[in-house]
Amino acid sequence: MKLSPDIRDSATLKFSELAKEKNRRKEKIISLGIGEPMFDTPPEIVEATYDAMKKGYTKYSDPLGLVELRELIKDKLLKDNGIDVSIDNIVVTPGAKQALSLALMALLEPNDEVINITPCYVSYIPQIKIAEPSAVIHNIDLDKHDHSLDRGKIKKAFNKKTKAIIINSPHNPTGKMLERDEIGFLARLVKGTGCYVVSDEIYEKLNFSGMRHYSIGAVKEIKDKAITINGFSKAFSMTGWRIGYLAAPKELIKAISRLQQHLNTNTCTFIQKGACSAFSLNEDYPKAYNSALKERESLLVEMVKSNSALRLVRPAGGLFAFLDISGASHGSDRFSARLLDRKNVAVIPGVSFGENWDDHVRISLVAQTDEFREGMRRIDEFVRSEDGP
Ligand code: PLP
Repeated sequence: MKLSPDIRDSATLKFSELAKEKNRRKEKIISLGIGEPMFDTPPEIVEATYDAMKKGYTKYSDPLGLVELRELIKDKLLKDNGIDVSIDNIVVTPGAKQALSLALMALLEPNDEVINITPCYVSYIPQIKIAEPSAVIHNIDLDKHDHSLDRGKIKKAFNKKTKAIIINSPHNPTGKMLERDEIGFLARLVKGTGCYVVSDEIYEKLNFSGMRHYSIGAVKEIKDKAITINGFSKAFSMTGWRIGYLAAPKELIKAISRLQQHLNTNTCTFIQKGACSAFSLNEDYPKAYNSALKERESLLVEMVKSNSALRLVRPAGGLFAFLDISGASHGSDRFSARLLDRKNVAVIPGVSFGENWDDHVRISLVAQTDEFREGMRRIDEFVRSEDGP
């Protein structure tokens, strides 16, 4: 398979080799690279999963997922997102990543076109290419000054062959949350056409700005054009469990179900049963997360304010901030490699998320607050130093 040119092997490899070498030398690295929530999976979910194993939920399940779980997802989508679907529109998958892949495989035919908003989650482009190697991808950058959608460019790229637009809110890597009128713009664009919107909402519950989360699947006029992707990894610290889901129009469910049957039969049955218990956790559950993320975001904002070479469009949700290093650097690979080498701080080069984002680095807000504070101090010192970036 041909990998996207957006994935620059050599630099990334060199970078991770350096990190490994430092680990071998037992140098302590402050990792601001990872994208996993910092809390353990809630014990209620762990207990419910043990229980499910003991009760015999150890066999194959319906490829679409356990009915009781799909019922709970259906209720959640209506209550939290205003998405009104039946359980026959819902498929439980081994992770949101698999849900994305299944949706793209079901959707894309030879020479279809896809509008992809960049910077983007590193798997979107490979997933499009896995689903349909001949697909034409239009990568449309967010506005660099405020991370708004570039409506002019999106309209220009949109045509009869456009089969999908991929959106992600809250967004990896910028932390942007789509505004209501941006959702409205996309809905008007696809209404009455053959194009679907694949809406990745995996970070929905990680929202530290208080901004309202809008789901395009709630827009009635294009209900049959929206595919909503979500899951448990980020909201419930269940990254290793591999469970997510999608809601899609019925005409796609048949293909998705067939793909799932032949790829993995079903999502692990006792994990599905355990995931059911996530819906009865206290509504306040994500609040502790969000206040910790907010605390770290404030430390980042404070550091950026005091350093004139750096700029930041403040993130609203998700786990990351996308730091503009254009005033300080000679490229994000070099910045990240030197920051790791000199200051033992790991960040992710912006160019990994889109070819025009070499003037940014992604900072994860996941590290413990003291460690994060020290990471900010070191980045500031590094940017100011003579032989820095
Ligand atoms: N979508 C985005 C934007 C992500 O950042 C990630 C993981 O980092 C995923 C999907 C994958 O989620 P899951 O762990 O449920 O497969």
